[in-house]
Amino acid sequence: MTTKLKTDVLKNFINGEWVDGDALTAVFNPATREKITDVPLSDAETLNNAVKAAKEAQKDWALVPAPQRAEVLYRVGYLMKERKERLSELLTMENGKVIEEARGEVQEGIDMAFYMAGEGRRLFGQTTPAELKDKFAMSQRVPVGVVGIITPWNFPIAIATWKSFPAIVAGNAVVWKPATETPIMAYELVKIFEEAGLPKGIMNVVFGSGGTVGDSMVHHDDIRVISFTGSNDTGRNIAAECGRQLKKVSLEMGGKNAVIVMEDADIDLAVEGILWSAFGTSGQRCTACSRVIVHEKVKDALEEKLLESMKHLTIGNGLKDGIKVGPIINQAGLDKIKRYIEIGKEEGAKLLAGGEELTGNDYNDGYYFAPTLFTDAASNMRIAQEEIFGPVVSLIPVQSFEEAIEVNNSVTYGLSSSIFTNDVNRVFQAQRDLDTGIVYVNAGTTGAEIHLPFGGTKGTGNGHRDSGVQALDVFTEWKAVYVDYSGKLQRAQIDVE
Ligand code: NAP
Repeated sequence: MTTKLKTDVLKNFINGEWVDGDALTAVFNPATREKITDVPLSDAETLNNAVKAAKEAQKDWALVPAPQRAEVLYRVGYLMKERKERLSELLTMENGKVIEEARGEVQEGIDMAFYMAGEGRRLFGQTTPAELKDKFAMSQRVPVGVVGIITPWNFPIAIATWKSFPAIVAGNAVVWKPATETPIMAYELVKIFEEAGLPKGIMNVVFGSGGTVGDSMVHHDDIRVISFTGSNDTGRNIAAECGRQLKKVSLEMGGKNAVIVMEDADIDLAVEGILWSAFGTSGQRCTACSRVIVHEKVKDALEEKLLESMKHLTIGNGLKDGIKVGPIINQAGLDKIKRYIEIGKEEGAKLLAGGEELTGNDYNDGYYFAPTLFTDAASNMRIAQEEIFGPVVSLIPVQSFEEAIEVNNSVTYGLSSSIFTNDVNRVFQAQRDLDTGIVYVNAGTTGAEIHLPFGGTKGTGNGHRDSGVQALDVFTEWKAVYVDYSGKLQRAQIDVE
């Protein structure tokens, strides 16, 4: 299966026009290290032009009734559906994830389009009794203005839809900086917006580095919200600057997610859940399982079955049929994983499988790493505390349910957790006590659906959520409106009889 891009060089999209970049940088396929295309490395002035266009266009867009704004999203959803296969192939080419997962990611975007289009007929506020006679009170959502969206490479289309669709249906204009590693999905999505008839200036894409374009967005006075997904280090710096400017900022960052396997669990099912959530997308998901907290009574059985199942994981170019695990995004990602393997060994965890880069003809010079299993890890080891972002999972034995919960909650992150058990009491205790934003029961740590809030507690975020109706809170302000029809001045809290 091969896909050839129709365009050789990507362009920025500003005020409805495709604008050439001055400087360019190459984009590579991580499965083969072959160059796919070039992408602009834009400067602050280009970003400024996009913000100016967005600011101007947003004034009219805010006045378009929301159900009409939603019509554009319906058209976007249908166009994405028509192009699902092409988008999925391109996604695998630029990001490496296997084609089946790429299809899943594109589907997530389609689902988000229809879900947020539906919000065009809701965007509910409240009416509420006023405390004074002949007075009416209500609250309503209003757009914030120009929204800055900064996205990572690991979900290059889904995350953009989680952010841009609610922003647009709510009446904002968007300036989007995609990750430099994966610009093709951005280019394709913007072409779809253009064809769907989105007025010019409402969706603008400026390609370029985080240090230049991203940083300029964060500092720009006319961008009133930053919605960021990426690493903790970058997120913290963005939040600090936004705090200084009193700019609204939504952060979705890393995870150190665990699957808990209790002594009464269906072990075969747990193995399937662990394989899918630890090695899917080669472990490069914010919700990837990188710890397995296992009751000591079933540790040996789980280890044995996991090792056996891992032998059947086929690794290679995700465009080929039957491949289950694709490449790592780039050399830096690979080097980071290798460092953590050494750290794990030095800390005394036992390496049961993998632990090495995969090279040679079978791997076409791509960036491949063998699915890796450590056992007898302690919960305070670095491999059990820090985000590795690769196909590496560490088994941590525990003696009780209470200890399992404590170990799960012992990390600085709080994105996703999972428990395998058939004890209904433990199910309810676990969903109450696991301190993550997402909890799964008898499933792995991945698999979020777009109509529920997505995000995490503690070091994973700052209290906001992507997707779900909750995403609208990021892109709207609440306005309280009081209408007094008594014909006289009535003072709240004072003229109450
Ligand atoms: P990253 O290095 O922080 O980059 C994310 C985005 O921020 C990229 O577009 C990057 O641009 C940009 N950026 C970099 N420096 C910046 C700066 N100083 N100012 C503004 N923007 C800047 O993260 P990543 O390595 O791409 O992504 C992996 C991380 O994302 C992992 O930690 C993962 O857990 C997290 N993630 C979280 C979620 C979630 O919802 N919680 C979902 C997916 C991924 P360039 O790269 O183009 O320079």
